[in-house]
Amino acid sequence: MTENLNIVRDELTGADNEFEKQLRPLSFIDFQGQKQVVENLSVFVAAAKQRGEALDHVLLHGPPGLGKTTLAAIISNELKVNMKVTSGPVLDKPGDLAGLLTNLEEGDVLFIDEIHRLSPVIEEYLYSAMEDFQIDIMIDKGPSARSVQLTLNSFTLIGATTRSGLLTSPLRARFGIKLHLEYYDSVILTGIVKRSASILSVRIDDDAAIEIARRSRGTPRIANALLRRVRDFAQIKGNGSIDMPITKYGLKALNIDEEGLDDMDNRILSAIIKKFGGGPVGLTTIATAVGEDSGTIEEVYEPFLIKEGYLKRTPRGREATEHAFKHIGVPFRGVSSRTLF
Ligand code: ADP
Repeated sequence: MTENLNIVRDELTGADNEFEKQLRPLSFIDFQGQKQVVENLSVFVAAAKQRGEALDHVLLHGPPGLGKTTLAAIISNELKVNMKVTSGPVLDKPGDLAGLLTNLEEGDVLFIDEIHRLSPVIEEYLYSAMEDFQIDIMIDKGPSARSVQLTLNSFTLIGATTRSGLLTSPLRARFGIKLHLEYYDSVILTGIVKRSASILSVRIDDDAAIEIARRSRGTPRIANALLRRVRDFAQIKGNGSIDMPITKYGLKALNIDEEGLDDMDNRILSAIIKKFGGGPVGLTTIATAVGEDSGTIEEVYEPFLIKEGYLKRTPRGREATEHAFKHIGVPFRGVSSRTLF
């Protein structure tokens, strides 16, 4: 497995680390981009504060690494309340959820990452907690088992998901605020790279910051990861500060190509074009061909390839575009004839 593959996939699916905490903006003012989302959220937060009520439940959806966890932490900071963090796959017993909920103080935030992966039992539990701030818990077992209703402090549930389509409609309906995060443009990402460089106390030239931003798949977490790796190259192979030549050298060593695609992106496109004539081809077939988990391809790689116009999702499967053929260096044979006949 190559180094760059780790950067994109591990950064986008992996756990929080010390660097992330250090680079995470703590207030709406520090949070760059997503203008509409931030503007709306600041109004909702200010209004809830003024009324002395808990903020309505918030659903944040969008690809990994765009700032959902960061925004949840900012909301709690701005509301001046505590935030408890958990995630869908971790919450498997109703007792765990009950424990979390009963420990929330008035107005606190409960952040559930990957909320689309909650088990149906836990989801049922959440409904009454979200709607009436009440939960039923079972005490005792066997014939003496009985259910007791507990009243909770009012709280705000912030759910984050990369796959809002997988959320059940009753759960989705219980969020009063639903916000979608978009990929960042390279101007905003350049600002994020510069801010992170100054926190890490490393000097970076403007053109180098632009180059890192441009090759970061529109994703702040990737931008920060590339910055850290390029900083390593600058320290060991250069003079410690980040300029354009060392940036290009580092990105090349990490197998991030000129368009910002990494090794796995290129393997996916190459498989569709060279093995399956450009498609249409099913996701699981692609996953087998490149040796990657199909969920990771769908959540991490595909959204960016679609957004950049390399891939199309059709009812019959994934299809490479003319742009993708050009990128891989294979003459384009036209898609319409393949899809129609
Ligand atoms: P998600 O929860 O959507 O996967 P995170 O909130 O964990 O993403 O963000 C990943 C990293 O990217 C964070 O460490 C944070 O430093 C950085 N980040 C995300 N959005 C922004 C932003 N708008 N401005 C600055 N840094 C950001």
